[in-house]
Amino acid sequence: MSVDGFLTAVEDVLHGTPRPVHLHEPLMGEAEACAMAECARSGWVSYASPEVARFEAMLSQATGIPHAVAMVNGTAALHLALILAGVRHGDEVIMPALTFAATANAAVQAGAVPHFADSDPRTLGLDPAALEAHLEQTVSPGPQGPVNRLTGRRIAALVPVHVFGHSPDMEALAAIAARHAIPLVEDTAEALGSSANGRHAGGHGLLSVLSFNGNKIVTTGGGGAILTSDPELAARARHLSTTAKKPHPWRFEHDETGFNYRMPGVNAALGVAQLERLQDFLERKRRLATRYQEAFRRVACAAMFPEPDGTRGNHWLNAALLHEEHCGLRDAILEEGIRRGVHMRPAWTLLHRLPMYAACPRANLAQAESLERRIICLPSSAGLMEAAHG
Ligand SMILES: *Cc1c(COP(=O)(O)O)cnc(C)c1O
Repeated sequence: MSVDGFLTAVEDVLHGTPRPVHLHEPLMGEAEACAMAECARSGWVSYASPEVARFEAMLSQATGIPHAVAMVNGTAALHLALILAGVRHGDEVIMPALTFAATANAAVQAGAVPHFADSDPRTLGLDPAALEAHLEQTVSPGPQGPVNRLTGRRIAALVPVHVFGHSPDMEALAAIAARHAIPLVEDTAEALGSSANGRHAGGHGLLSVLSFNGNKIVTTGGGGAILTSDPELAARARHLSTTAKKPHPWRFEHDETGFNYRMPGVNAALGVAQLERLQDFLERKRRLATRYQEAFRRVACAAMFPEPDGTRGNHWLNAALLHEEHCGLRDAILEEGIRRGVHMRPAWTLLHRLPMYAACPRANLAQAESLERRIICLPSSAGLMEAAHG
């Protein structure tokens, strides 16, 4: 009965959309095809393409963050951002347990150990009060930043994640980072177009990163970006991501161990065409979120996760939250959804449950564990609004 009630609400919103309906599909058309074809004809297909600079300028414009440096993917962007923030071998990086594995993978690639903190059910992001209490208990100030008293390792970065595009309480988290002298790097991979108190996601961090993977709100096939308001960090991001080659008319020399992380021109050309439609995507997604909110008022076992106070999210992924006493229905809803051609997804398995991260330091994760049991992500493609309403 409850399983059916949940799915009926989802199917009401999906209306006549042909099945199967996937969780998130890109919206691509003639503009994207033309942009890529033109790029190919121009011959400028690598990162030296003017399309990369154009895409970066559009990203700065869309976010209000002065510098954007386009990367091959969001994970690479986060890896490099952590290095730029000063993360070194043997450090710890604090992040939520409720995030995509890439957040932790990037920290490990930078030589650090993930340190998991609890989530706030009001934002789905890091809980500032719980984090402050955990830091009080766990860290002591050191000469180069706070040190985890239990492991002896330095806490080198705090990485809040804007889960499904929703803003965590960044004001409180930025204050905690400042108080403890921990560099702040925002994982806004899912949050292009989201803002809180009039400020675009990523605007509090020393650095922030975006992803343009195929499932994100704007896609370049694969892609990412580092954003920062610090011109020197942006210059270092460019240098390190292009094999740290010294600029010179003919000499071929490098001054550091660099990365080959820059976004190719073909991907940027696609990104330019997609970014031109960002406002349209945001509007469709807001309409879809409103439709789900309305449909779920009639559902007994769950409610839609509401946009946190003071924020204006991009509604990248719509999440329904089962009431705690009904969380046993989750898997049956997902199974029955697939049977009906409606592809939904639970939250990510919390990172401390994955074999490679099971031994990482962590806070009490009671709220994240509750959210993990209760979240069901609903089909959220921008194209659904058009399909459902002609
Ligand atoms: C997508 C995503 C990433 C990584 O981006 P890729 O472009 O897939 O490498 C990192 N963090 C979060 C929260 C993401 O959703």
